[in-house]
Amino acid sequence: MSLGSENRPLRVAIVGSGPSGFYAADSLLKSECVVDVDMFERLPVPFGLVRFGVAPDHLKIKNVTRVYDRTAQNERFSYFGNVAIGSDLTIPELREHYDAIVLAVGAASDRSLGIPGEDLVGSHAATEFVAWYNGHPDYRDCQFDLSGETAVVIGQGNVAIDVARILAKTVDELRESDIANHALEALAESKIKTIYLVGRRGPAQAAFTSAEIKEMGELADCDLRVSPADMTLSDASLTELEMSGNAGKKKNVTILTAYSQSPSENRGRVVDIRFFQSPVEITGEDRVEEIVLGTNTLTGDAGAQRASDSGERETLACGLVFRSVGYRGVAMDHVPFHEAWGVFPHENGRVMEGDAPAPGLYATGWIKRGPSGVIGTNKADSVETVGTLLGDLASLTPCSRPDSGAVRELLAERGVRVVTYEDWGKIDAAEIARGEKQGRCRDKLVTVDEMLTFLG
Ligand code: NAP
Repeated sequence: MSLGSENRPLRVAIVGSGPSGFYAADSLLKSECVVDVDMFERLPVPFGLVRFGVAPDHLKIKNVTRVYDRTAQNERFSYFGNVAIGSDLTIPELREHYDAIVLAVGAASDRSLGIPGEDLVGSHAATEFVAWYNGHPDYRDCQFDLSGETAVVIGQGNVAIDVARILAKTVDELRESDIANHALEALAESKIKTIYLVGRRGPAQAAFTSAEIKEMGELADCDLRVSPADMTLSDASLTELEMSGNAGKKKNVTILTAYSQSPSENRGRVVDIRFFQSPVEITGEDRVEEIVLGTNTLTGDAGAQRASDSGERETLACGLVFRSVGYRGVAMDHVPFHEAWGVFPHENGRVMEGDAPAPGLYATGWIKRGPSGVIGTNKADSVETVGTLLGDLASLTPCSRPDSGAVRELLAERGVRVVTYEDWGKIDAAEIARGEKQGRCRDKLVTVDEMLTFLG
């Protein structure tokens, strides 16, 4: 009996319900092969980075979940929410029930700066702040001291921009988003007036995209400060802007140049965009009081310019530091891990153990390629992984117990309340109804217990 036929459908477990997981499911279900897909998610609620990473005020981006809803309606798809792979079920146990496992677990941790004072109270990973304001249950109880006047965000990617924008918005602007209520309440009391957005290289190298930096200039009560001197670009940077693929960077420079020429309007808050500066040290008695920034010059050829410390220093008084220098993948039991890169080593999505494939294991999304790209980038990534998996069909070892019912029984024996996609629909409806009562689009449930309570 061949795998992938009506008699014996291919059985694939997808671990993770973010964009890459859903795109993998879609690609499998649309293939020629007959496939049953069971998607496992640690939290009751699906969508990973769309729910917990995309900024709460970027509601349009979140509409992509309608596409995932359609995938979930396929009769060969099942959602197993509230099931943690690694504790509720292990990878070897999944192997007993599935012919292949697609790991779409994202990048749950963050990269550190490696500077003194990084662990002082008041110095946070931007990823924690993002998860907190997006209502991730694991971060519900984080505390961010918003009583000081100055916050410093290190890094100039889109996550750094998101963090700066959320800090800079008025409470009325935030109320229009689906930000978690606890974050809305805390930010309503925020005393922060100045937000530094610090990049180690120049305006031509900033990692944010032009739509995001443009949006920064459209906030209700926030000035932008950019030093005109920083906008005088070196020959190498000018050359870099003309290189293919750099149209977006060129647009960034045009927008930033306009900001550098706009007079301050003495608004309630200011985002001060600093270039050519790297954090050297964070200091304070018991908590963050100051950050020391080193001034950089750029060295190297156009397209490969690096920040080099000039030795010059500037000290900023601040109460909060957010490091936003990239996400990082986390290792899983029974899965090979590339420690330095924070990803599962792979060949076109096939997880590799040295030179040999790890039997039946595949990876997609940030845990495969690292934390880069927008939501849609994951589609092509998952299509590649699924192509590899289906190409391996003949060599896959069929699982010994091809039965999702047995998986449900095992989970029930272990006291795990599996959340179905229908259950998720109930949580979704409850959140929307709670939001409506407050004149908001959604009021997220932010603990697992609360979510399960709604399911009766
Ligand atoms: P990112 O785009 O890779 O940006 C990381 C930033 O950190 C860069 O400015 C980088 O500077 C800087 N950095 C790295 N190491 C540093 C160090 N040791 N010291 C100082 N600065 C350092 O990462 P991200 O912002 O976490 O975003 C992850 C992905 O999600 C990106 O692809 C992003 O576009 C995407 N995203 C998209 C949206 C959206 O579409 N609205 C929103 C959020 C995130 P260098 O350039 O010098 O390395």
